[in-house]
Amino acid sequence: MILEARSREYCEARVRAGVLEQGTRDVLIEAGVGDRLQAEGLVHGGIHLRFAGEDHRIALGELTGGRTVTVYGQTEVVKDLIAARADSGAPLLFEAEDVELAGVDGDRPVVSYRHAGAAHELRADLVAGCDGFHGVCRRSIPAGILSTWERGYPFAWLGVLAHVAPSTDELIYARHDRGFALHSMRSTEVSRLYLQVAPDEELDSWPDERVWAELRSRLAYDGWTLQEGAVSEKSITPMRSFVAAPMRHGRLFLAGDAAHIVPPTGAKGLNLAVADVTALAEAIEDWYATGSAAGLDGYSERCQRRVWRAQQFSWWMTQMLHVDPGDDEYGHQLALSQLRYLTSSTAAATTLAENYVGLTVSRVSAT
Ligand SMILES: Cc1cc2nc3c(=O)[nH]c(=O)nc-3n(C[C@H](O)[C@H](O)[C@H](O)COP(=O)(O)OP(=O)(O)OC[C@H]3O[C@@H](n4cnc5c(N)ncnc54)[C@H](O)[C@@H]3O)c2cc1C
Repeated sequence: MILEARSREYCEARVRAGVLEQGTRDVLIEAGVGDRLQAEGLVHGGIHLRFAGEDHRIALGELTGGRTVTVYGQTEVVKDLIAARADSGAPLLFEAEDVELAGVDGDRPVVSYRHAGAAHELRADLVAGCDGFHGVCRRSIPAGILSTWERGYPFAWLGVLAHVAPSTDELIYARHDRGFALHSMRSTEVSRLYLQVAPDEELDSWPDERVWAELRSRLAYDGWTLQEGAVSEKSITPMRSFVAAPMRHGRLFLAGDAAHIVPPTGAKGLNLAVADVTALAEAIEDWYATGSAAGLDGYSERCQRRVWRAQQFSWWMTQMLHVDPGDDEYGHQLALSQLRYLTSSTAAATTLAENYVGLTVSRVSAT
């Protein structure tokens, strides 16, 4: 049983991540929800790093033995998952209200909720807490059980969706004196662009003309032109790093943003969520098939290794590519030096490439 607080229309319109690691793509195809992804997703074998008037390509595929990323919006992944669930006939309730958990310590946890005005109770074998950072699941774990680690950042991302063909075949990550910029895309007709802004920035201060002017100056490169188009969505995303562990309490298992958040610079949030639920699904299957709880018992530890790798990579990419307003010229020179090293050393570039395309998804059978 899946309980979702929002409407189907809301979930299918929500614009978020767009870069799928190789392992995420493989998992979605294996799960039978990869047809549109394979037909419409854009496979990228590289990314560009732009700084100090230079542009360098990091050849992801060549550096990782052929592993790549696929640009396919999270919105589209969500649509595909909802369609597959609807086709299966298994229950998925939208607009479930007042979801609450009880008794996760015991072997029959109870999930209560309201739907279409009526109160309901579910008695479950186990509960997968996949309800995001602000959801109810993590908060249902009694105080003193979870350890948490957190880091804030003195900036946010202003993101726009623009109806114009991307001005680049591959993503461009730019560090500029005025701040970070990213040229991404959702399809051959739709561009997704981001700018570093102050965390308390108001959207009203960013009319379209200002967004384009800032993107032009931060992404500038000799002989390259940024194509502009109609902006259909504009939002500001705060940046935060957060980890809660263990990702299990009794019969409740946390997955995705419910347990951890990364700044989006490393494109890891959605990929970590898919890796968690892949590991959890396999552990649950194993438990029902064999009665062995080994997979469930090892779930948190197995996920945490990947989570912390993604935490470090996302933090590292973020501090290298953003301009910290509190930083001095020394910090600026360190970041430039790191970028120059990455773009001149195969070993350094391989480190970025391996992390960007993602580590392989851990299996229950793996030790
Ligand atoms: C605005 C924004 C932009 C982002 N951009 C990027 C990006 O560019 N790149 C990237 O890698 N990552 C990005 N992320 C992060 C990425 O989208 C998340 O890491 C990913 O969505 C995590 O998936 P999840 O399933 O764990 O959580 P979610 O996608 O948040 O899903 C949780 C679901 O639970 C539902 N829910 C919440 N509370 C309840 C409740 N009490 N009862 C029932 N249902 C509930 C929510 O409505 C939601 O549908 C972005 C996130 C945001 C918010």
